[in-house]
Amino acid sequence: MKHLFGPVNSRRLGLSLGVDLVPAKICNFNCIYCEVGVTTGLTVKRREYTPTAEIIAELEEFFAGLDSESAGWPDFVTLTSSGEPTLHTGIGDVIRYVKQELEIPVAVLTNGALLFDPQVRLDLLAADIVVPSLDAARPETLAAINRPAAECADPRQIVEGLAAFAEEFGGEIWLEILLAAGVNDSEKDIDALVAAVERIRPDRVQLNTVVRPPAESWARPLSEERIKEVAGRFKDCRVEIIADYSGRAAVRPERPQKQEILEMLKRRPCTRTDIREATGLAGEDVDRLLNELAEASLIRETMHDGRKYYQAGKQR
Ligand code: SF4
Repeated sequence: MKHLFGPVNSRRLGLSLGVDLVPAKICNFNCIYCEVGVTTGLTVKRREYTPTAEIIAELEEFFAGLDSESAGWPDFVTLTSSGEPTLHTGIGDVIRYVKQELEIPVAVLTNGALLFDPQVRLDLLAADIVVPSLDAARPETLAAINRPAAECADPRQIVEGLAAFAEEFGGEIWLEILLAAGVNDSEKDIDALVAAVERIRPDRVQLNTVVRPPAESWARPLSEERIKEVAGRFKDCRVEIIADYSGRAAVRPERPQKQEILEMLKRRPCTRTDIREATGLAGEDVDRLLNELAEASLIRETMHDGRKYYQAGKQR
C-alpha cells in the first residue's frame, strides 16, 4: 500500500485509516514544528500529485473482504499528507468515494491556508470533520512559525478563508492551534488568535504544542501551566488541550509487520508506546521489530522533551 497507512489509534479520531495524498514533502508551509521534516517543495500549486484512481484502487483493495463488523474497520478515514492534502486536486473525489461507497466518516487534516480559494472549500464540503490549523494571526508571527509560501503569508486572508468555510460547511470544524514557546505565545499573539477564533467560530479549539520531534530542533513546547493559561483566554467556545494518544488500541485484522511500522515512522516520529497502541502488538514484539529495523539502518532514535522517539532514516 503506497498511499494508505494504519488504521492507527489517533489522538482525536479513534481508529483512523490514513490516506496520504501528497507523498513527498510538498506544502505551502514550512512549519518549524513539522513532524515530517523541512519542506522540500514549497508551493501553492494545486495538482494531482498522485493519481486519484490509484488512491481509490488502494482503498477498494483495503476494504475488499472487510465489513463494518470486522476488527480493524476504521471509525474514520483521515485525509492527510506528508505535506498539505488540499494541494491535491482529487481530494474532493476521494472524500466522495469514501462517503458514498464505503459509508465511513471522513476527516481532513489541513493547514487551512488555501481555504480562501472557493474551489478548495467546495472540495472539502462532503467531509464530516475538518481540522484546520491556525498558529498565528499576525503576519510576522505567521512568518516565524509557519514560514509560508508568499501567496499565503497574509493571516487576514487565511482567517477570512476559514470564516467563509465555517459559514458554508455542514460538518464540524476543529481548529488546531499549535503553540511554540517564545515564537507564537506572546500576549499580542494570543490576543490576535482569540479575535480570529471569534471571527471563525469553529466547533472546537484544540491547543497543541511541540510534543513530537520538530523540523527545527530549537522549537520548544509550552509548559502545561502556560497552555492551561492560554486555554482560559478563549471564551464562548469549546477549548481542548490535546495531550498524548488516548483511547483504545487498534485492533488489526492481521499482525502488522516490520514494513508497516516503518511506513508509520516515515510519516512521523513515534514512541514505543505509540507503536504499541497503534498496532496492538505486545511490547516485546515491538522491541524485536524496532531492533531489526535499527540493525538494518532503516530507523533512528531521537530524544525530544525527555522522551525517546523512533523515526525512519539512518542514525546521524
Ligand atoms: S506541519 Fe503541516 S502545514 Fe506545516 S509544514 Fe508540516 S505538513 Fe506543512
